[in-house]
Amino acid sequence: MTNEWHKSTKGVHAGTKRSQYGEVSESIFMTQGFVYDTAAQAEARFESAGPDEFIYARYGNPTVAMFQERIAALEGAEDAFATASGMAAVNGALMSLLKAGDHVVSARALFGSCLYIAEEILPRFGVEVTFVDGGNLEEWEAAIRPGTRAVFFESLSNPTLEIVNIEAVSKLARAQGALVVCDNVFATPVYSNAIAQGVDLVIYSATKHIDGQGRALGGVILGSREMIRKTVEPYMKHTGGSMSPFTAWIMLKGLETMALRVGAQTASALKIAQRLEGHEALSKVIYPGLASHPQHDLATAQMGAGGTMIAIEVKGGKDGAYRFLDACKIGIISNNLGDAKTILTPPAFTTHQRLPLDQKAALGITPGLVRISVGLESDEDLIADFLQALDN
Ligand SMILES: *Cc1c(COP(=O)(O)O)cnc(C)c1O
Repeated sequence: MTNEWHKSTKGVHAGTKRSQYGEVSESIFMTQGFVYDTAAQAEARFESAGPDEFIYARYGNPTVAMFQERIAALEGAEDAFATASGMAAVNGALMSLLKAGDHVVSARALFGSCLYIAEEILPRFGVEVTFVDGGNLEEWEAAIRPGTRAVFFESLSNPTLEIVNIEAVSKLARAQGALVVCDNVFATPVYSNAIAQGVDLVIYSATKHIDGQGRALGGVILGSREMIRKTVEPYMKHTGGSMSPFTAWIMLKGLETMALRVGAQTASALKIAQRLEGHEALSKVIYPGLASHPQHDLATAQMGAGGTMIAIEVKGGKDGAYRFLDACKIGIISNNLGDAKTILTPPAFTTHQRLPLDQKAALGITPGLVRISVGLESDEDLIADFLQALDN
């Protein structure tokens, strides 16, 4: 493999290891353990395992190793640790770095379970967390202090698609010696340049665009070899959040088509957003690829494209949103994203249901808001369906 390859080429070939049979499609090594030829070999393996030497599937497995190598190549990271879910990755990245007495600065607009970790779990273990408006660099600068151990954010917020300036926040963090942890799910590995932009640990829920077909939960933490092997791996392998070999195989296959899928979904998302913008039944169309998005230039510089997610605000509040959702014939009402199927979500009443009203209002999660994860259907069919549902 060469580093000069494009992401689409790496997604197909990086990390492939063939057994003595020379199989084309990656093998699934459904085994928890591995046999040693001699007792002395077992001892040596436990003392120090080489790159193609395995001990126990919670520590590592050949299929999982292929996935880790492939996604690391795509991301431009030295190494990766694959996890049982996206949340196992978020929890593993933070818990492996932090100890009682540490200080963390986090963006306020977070995926619900990420917010639970930052707001409920970390303080329980004596970690102080300061929340900031992720789009406001002055708030980041004021909150990060000497001794701050880490900053945490989602580069593109869910569901209102606000963008955190990765490079600028990383610079502020580094100046105070803080590590940068970025959940880059909404940007997708296809449009991510997070390592080059200064991030120490990048996290993905593989459940989203990496699988892309709604089959399995998974996650991954990416970073330098030193950080992954010395800090992340010891925590993950001893606490049980490792990815299963079968899931790793699904995710490997997902990576082969991810660049194509995400590219097509992004092209459709732009067309849909352009067509819906200004529609009389809508009070808002939020899409980073639209020139009207307040951070359009930052989105273009940071990701090179607007991504696969759109948020629209239907007039008439909850009734308007529900009428629209129930009238859509193609998109399904669900809560995953990055799937081949277009997925429609009313965040105020599902994913963000438990947030108090004032917090919802502060985050722009209004009753009429509908999140659209654009799938692989024909964009013409999707546009026609959305238009008929809005006229409903
Ligand atoms: C889905 C998601 C997660 C959690 O991933 P799971 O695979 O569901 O555990 C974390 N962060 C973001 C931004 C997500 O969208």
